[in-house]
Amino acid sequence: MVSISTNTPTSELQAIDAAHHMHPFTTAQDLAVKGARVITRAEGCWLTDSDGNRILDAMAGLWCVNIGYGRRELAEVAARQIQDLPFYNTFFQTTHVPVIALAAKLAELAPGDLNTVFFANSGSEANDTNIRAVRTYWAAKGQPDRNVIISRWNAYHGSCVGSGSLGGMTGMHAQGGMPIPDIHHIGQPHWYNEGGDLSPEDFGLARARELETAILEIGPDRVAAFIAEPIQGAGGVIVPPASYWPEIQRITKQYGILLIADEVITGFGRTGNWFGSETLGITPDIMTIAKGLSSGYQPIGASILSDEVAATLAQVEFNHGYTYSGHPVACAVALENIRILEEEDIITRVREDTGPYLKKRFESLTDHPLVGEASIVGMMGSLALTPDKATRAPFEAEAGTVGYICRERCFANNLIMRHVYDRMIISPPLTISKKEIDILIERARKSLDECYAHLQ
Ligand code: PLP
Repeated sequence: MVSISTNTPTSELQAIDAAHHMHPFTTAQDLAVKGARVITRAEGCWLTDSDGNRILDAMAGLWCVNIGYGRRELAEVAARQIQDLPFYNTFFQTTHVPVIALAAKLAELAPGDLNTVFFANSGSEANDTNIRAVRTYWAAKGQPDRNVIISRWNAYHGSCVGSGSLGGMTGMHAQGGMPIPDIHHIGQPHWYNEGGDLSPEDFGLARARELETAILEIGPDRVAAFIAEPIQGAGGVIVPPASYWPEIQRITKQYGILLIADEVITGFGRTGNWFGSETLGITPDIMTIAKGLSSGYQPIGASILSDEVAATLAQVEFNHGYTYSGHPVACAVALENIRILEEEDIITRVREDTGPYLKKRFESLTDHPLVGEASIVGMMGSLALTPDKATRAPFEAEAGTVGYICRERCFANNLIMRHVYDRMIISPPLTISKKEIDILIERARKSLDECYAHLQ
């Protein structure tokens, strides 16, 4: 047995990693050529790698470390909970204090009458729960044929077979038999790439009305639900035109279709309110949460159901659950995370202070020759890279080539930004300071300059 620790040389760690660890969304060729970056510690918004580099994490891990890294309070709560009750399940009429407290807290925080929580370990699992929940809901109402769920191309709802089918990522659909039957996709409200000559408002309406067209084609008595992220995250931080959501809601209401807001990224302060639904004026019947629920300190996700959905499902036994649904340690950590978000007024600060500051600084990057657009709400934003700002034209190179170069320049400049095709993404910890925002923008500009120079 090899002995492996943070003192093991980086090249050795990378070789063992490449030999034995199959990474999500990573090619083995890339790993073999360059090896994975080994992260050893983190504090606040800063990562340290195995070579001692200090890296500004403008992605909050995977859009999740909302309160920043290294909060002792969460470690202490987890240690205490492991001693007191490391595990008990919530099946077969049992419960425990952390899950009761967290469910009650989420009912208090969630908007409208979203008052009942079904726990999972991740956003993917929560969305798989949603597929079964909405179909079971309609069956309980005596409409078992209402089983089609409408989603959008380029949406991301997770990686399980169900949630991956809900998502609209064609690269994922090409592998492993997705989408499953009775999932239908419509166009996304991505004006910059797909809006052509339409104004953003007209395009937003046109894309929303694709939902109505799909409902009428499929048959209103066959459609169970529409699912969408309030703001698409993994698809490229695509902020929909203001006309989009009101029209979507008119349609879901008119045809009596359940609306599922996937708030896995937009929840817990990311958009400047507790939930993106509040920021965008959405009234969902079901909300998916994960990521910021525990700031990534523990794996936990959930579906929050409206009173009507919960009451209907309560008519049957829902034959569904995960061993770790409502895991006590994850629940205790999530509660502590929420306490910190509340007590330190982190979300108000995002809405009123650091968010507007980040927006101003981020939008200043549009003077760069490569940047066609900066979209940002709260603490999630994207830059569209383009060779021609006037026409919003894509690059001649395959989509993503320039984004990849830019991301590599960011890495070299000790800044984690992600690229989605040729959009550069940020989603930093909500605790980022103005000084750190300045460093983020300075490093992003330097990386854009280097990318631009590389393309000349
Ligand atoms: N839904 C959305 C909107 C997401 O962004 C993600 C992950 O990025 C998921 C669902 C899946 O969550 P998880 O990776 O926790 O399974």
